[in-house]
Amino acid sequence: MRSEFAYASPSSLGEALEILKDFGERTCVIAGGTDLMIAIREGELRAELLVDISRIPELRLIREEGNQICIGPLVTHGELASSGLIKKGASVLGRAANSVGSPQIRNMGTIGGNIINASPAADTIPALVVLEAQVTLKKREGERSLPITDFYLGPYKTIIGAQELLTKITFAKLDDTWKSSFIKLARRKALAISRINIAVLAKMDEMRAKEVRVSIGSSTPTPCRMEKAEAVLRGAVPSAAVIEEASRIVAEEMVARSGVRPSTEYKRPAVQGLVKKALQEAFNIGL
Ligand SMILES: Cc1cc2nc3c(=O)[nH]c(=O)nc-3n(C[C@H](O)[C@H](O)[C@H](O)COP(=O)(O)OP(=O)(O)OC[C@H]3O[C@@H](n4cnc5c(N)ncnc54)[C@H](O)[C@@H]3O)c2cc1C
Repeated sequence: MRSEFAYASPSSLGEALEILKDFGERTCVIAGGTDLMIAIREGELRAELLVDISRIPELRLIREEGNQICIGPLVTHGELASSGLIKKGASVLGRAANSVGSPQIRNMGTIGGNIINASPAADTIPALVVLEAQVTLKKREGERSLPITDFYLGPYKTIIGAQELLTKITFAKLDDTWKSSFIKLARRKALAISRINIAVLAKMDEMRAKEVRVSIGSSTPTPCRMEKAEAVLRGAVPSAAVIEEASRIVAEEMVARSGVRPSTEYKRPAVQGLVKKALQEAFNIGL
């Protein structure tokens, strides 16, 4: 527990990486501060040096690179939700970002902080999982990129090193053959952390679902896809019966991954019902 620490506010990525190289384990990066300020206020920050990356302009961009969308970690939830590029090429992420907290939290909280904080309830993570996003981690000596599903070790635990910064999130831009849905179940409408959130992407080929991706948050030890249910949906003409079956399989997969807990009695039917709703919305049937 520390109540005092030094503060650095680098204005370039190079400068930030130098500081992380020199001070490593003794630093803590701060972006929007919506998660970190709580830890600081409660005296839980162990770092000696707070590295504020919010003045680094190159980490704040949303841009197209060929058929990829590339997002800087400092992009806020509000910026994601209102971006034309995200609405067109990754609407599932825009909807997830728009569901975060309150307008104040969406104005301050960043996608990078949401990813790194690694809360099981983080709303952008299931959306990034179905987008098959890659995260890029950079340190002074070089960078590495990996699928977001390989980034998590458990709740609030990731593989990021003390000298690394998350510098980029990339995924393929979706065309309009892709349908999507993002649904969140929370205690209250405003300022509510998700109890369950679900992201669905479906690529349609005429009447058939050519490819379907499903991820649920707050429900599995690490972010993942619901592959058994996806296999049932792949190639199928979506019908009430197919959706019912896929939703049941998602709930089973969730229990298999997380184990039976006191919350399972509530969570199994809740997940099943929400997945059904999300699939109906994505396929635009039965609403
Ligand atoms: C009242 C309230 C309501 C909320 N509601 C929701 C909600 O509905 N849904 C939801 O998903 N979240 C919610 N949150 C959580 C929070 O707003 C998000 O997790 C936010 O996106 C974190 O971003 P930040 O920039 O504020 O991160 P910070 O607090 O600055 O940092 C969070 C963590 O990420 C690290 N970090 C940040 N950026 C980088 C980087 N580029 N490289 C390396 N490490 C980095 C920091 O060191 C820290 O460990 C809520 C929070 C509050 C206080």
